[in-house]
Amino acid sequence: MRRNKTLSAVLFEGKQRLKAAGKENYAFEGEILLMEACGLSRVTLFTQGEKEISFEQEEKYNDYLNQREKNRPLQYILGRCDFMGLSFSVGEGTLIPRSDTEILVETVLKISKQEKIKKIIDVGTGSGCIPICLAYYGDMEGIGIDISPKALEFARKNGTQHHADIQWLESDLFSRVSDEWKGCFDAIVSNPPYIAEDVITGLMPEVRDFEPENALDGGKDGLDFYRRIIRESHQWLRDGGWLFFEIGYDQGPAVLSMMGDAGFQQCVLRQDLAGLDRVVYGKLNKVFLNEV
Ligand code: GLN
Repeated sequence: MRRNKTLSAVLFEGKQRLKAAGKENYAFEGEILLMEACGLSRVTLFTQGEKEISFEQEEKYNDYLNQREKNRPLQYILGRCDFMGLSFSVGEGTLIPRSDTEILVETVLKISKQEKIKKIIDVGTGSGCIPICLAYYGDMEGIGIDISPKALEFARKNGTQHHADIQWLESDLFSRVSDEWKGCFDAIVSNPPYIAEDVITGLMPEVRDFEPENALDGGKDGLDFYRRIIRESHQWLRDGGWLFFEIGYDQGPAVLSMMGDAGFQQCVLRQDLAGLDRVVYGKLNKVFLNEV
């Protein structure tokens, strides 16, 4: 008769499998997936290694490992991802929130301490993590838009979960935003698709084969969405409203110059924790726009 295996034996096997599959964080991922399969805390995992697990739990763990070996992202397997201390539902059809993006949210929160930023619109909201965190930590409200109905299903679920006062709208950029909102927003926030077309094929398989391409592909030079959003932004922002972008590490100078040309002042380029350019923001001066 087959014997039940112990937690530590199964964990060892799991880590070995993920290591052989070339997963850089094999130890961490092996642990998280086992905790998930058995409904255990990290403490139990490490203090009760001799505990036997059921065949069902072992089967579940094997299924998770199979998925991971086939490069399905860990967060899709778990169905959730942490961002700024909150948990978000994610799955195929929505970009997985990146910790890089926390600096974008923190920047908006920082400026909102000195300037009125209450009504916001997040362009390309995906899982909704940006406006939901702004609502949660900064008491902001407004709209999250995305072209993908699938992404919006996750955003809606996440918004409800975190009681965020955010409306969700299926729209290709601003195309379906009601005219009533023109000139009303204190801030536009966006982490648009910004990967240059020909870089996409070289991305990690987790990203390239599983995450939605329309959340990544920023056209030939990766800057298409900055051009489009900047062009339309002055209609939707109030005078003195702010535009905040996440950018790719080499896109700072180009986006800064586009914003300067479009009437934004006090433009700033901010780095992430790795020291890479990550956020560009500035304040709209409509008087300047009328002059040019
Ligand atoms: N930062 C993401 C990545 O490198 C890209 C997100 C985006 O295009 N907005 O995978």
